[in-house]
Amino acid sequence: MIFVESKLKNTTELINEANKSILFTTMRPDIVMERGEGMYLWDTEGKSYLDFMGGWAVTSLGHCPSVLKEALINQCNTLINASPAYYNRPMIELAKILTDNSCFDRVFFASSGSEANEGAIKLARKYGAKFLNGAYEIITAVNSFHGRTLATMSATGKKVWADLYEPKVPGFKHIPINDLDAIKNSITSNTCAIMFEPIQGEGGVNELDKDYIKTLSGICKEKGILLIVDEVQTGLGRTGKLFAYQHYQIEPDIMTLAKGIGGGYPLSALLAKESLNIFEPGDQGGTYSSQPLGMAAGLAVVSEIINKNLSLNAKVQGEYIIKKLNAIKSKYGLKNIRGKGLLLAFDFPEDKGKEIAHKCLDKGLLLNSPRPSTIRLMPPLIVTNEDTDLMINILSDVLDTI
Ligand SMILES: *Cc1c(COP(=O)(O)O)cnc(C)c1O
Repeated sequence: MIFVESKLKNTTELINEANKSILFTTMRPDIVMERGEGMYLWDTEGKSYLDFMGGWAVTSLGHCPSVLKEALINQCNTLINASPAYYNRPMIELAKILTDNSCFDRVFFASSGSEANEGAIKLARKYGAKFLNGAYEIITAVNSFHGRTLATMSATGKKVWADLYEPKVPGFKHIPINDLDAIKNSITSNTCAIMFEPIQGEGGVNELDKDYIKTLSGICKEKGILLIVDEVQTGLGRTGKLFAYQHYQIEPDIMTLAKGIGGGYPLSALLAKESLNIFEPGDQGGTYSSQPLGMAAGLAVVSEIINKNLSLNAKVQGEYIIKKLNAIKSKYGLKNIRGKGLLLAFDFPEDKGKEIAHKCLDKGLLLNSPRPSTIRLMPPLIVTNEDTDLMINILSDVLDTI
C-alpha cells in the first residue's frame, strides 16, 4: 500500500537528494534506514544492524512491536484527533496507569522531552510565584541535558552550549553533581526548584550518589522548594525499576518522561503531586497535548512494560552486559564500566569513541558515543543474552583492529 510512489529508486539517489534537501544539523552516514523488527534495523541496501542504541533509548519494546502497531492501527480506525479542548479515552487510561504506578497524582501530556521539561520549569515558576514570593531560579547540574528549546537549553549544563543562542533564558544555576556543599551554597530565597537526571544520560552516564539524592530530597522538603526529576531517559524500566527515582526511596514533586514512553511514537509526560495541580486556564497547553494516537501508543507501551515486567529484564540483562564487558575489559583497556539496568557506558583510554562506533556500524552494530572517549549502550528492554553475546563479538572484532 504505497500511495505516493517514490521517484528515488536507489540508495545513491536518496543520499544525493538528502545532501541537497535536508537542512544540515548533524553528520549522518551514507545509509538510509528502511525497516525495523525487534532488535534489528535494515537499510535500503538490505543490510541489517543489531541495535544497541535503541533509537536513542526510545524503542523500549524493540522495533515495530506488535502491541504498539495494533494499538496505533486500532486508534487510527477510531479517532486520530479530537482537539485538546476535549478529553479522550486513551488519555484518561494512560494518566491512570502512570499515576497508579508512581508517587504522582496528575499528568500533562506533550510530544517531546523538551516540552515536558518546559512544562516542569513553568510549573516550578508558577509554584514560586504563588508560594515562594516570586522565586524563579532553578538549580540544575553541570553536564546535565534537559532538551533543545531555549529554556531547556538554558537549564542544560553542557559546556559547549554555554555561548550558543545567547541570550539564554535567565534563572538557571549549574552546579557539579554529588557535591552537597555546592548545592547548599547555591540555594537562595530566589530558588524555586532543583532539577536533575538521576543518571545523566547525554552527559555520559554519570550516576548521582544515593546519599546525595536522599540528602538533596531532604533539603528540598525542608526549604519548601521543588524536586524535579528529569526521567526522560531513565524512566519506564530503563534502569531496572519502572522509574529511576524508585532506587532512592524518595518522592520527587515533579517527574518528566519521554523517549521510552512511546516506544518510538513521539510522546512525553509531566507528572506532579496533587499539591502542584495549580495551573489556571491558559497557563499551559499545546495543540497536540493528549493527542489520541500518542495516548494509545503510550498506553500500549507502558502496559507492556508493566505486564511483562521489562524493568526486571532490564536489570538482569544489564548485569549480563556488564559481566560480558568485564570479561573483555583488560584485553581492550576498557575503563569505568558503569550505569544501571540498560543505561550503560564505558570509556577508552583514548578518544576513540566515534571511530569505534563507526566501525561497529560498518559491521552491523549500532552503538552511541556521547563523549569522545565513551561508548553508551541503551538497547531495547527486550534484549536477550544472545543479542549481547553477538554485540560483544562484533565489538571485540572491531577493537582487535584498533
Ligand atoms: C533526550 C532528553 C531530553 C530531550 O528530549 P527530546 O524529546 O529530545 O526533546 C531531555 N532530558 C533528557 C534527560 C534526555 O535524555
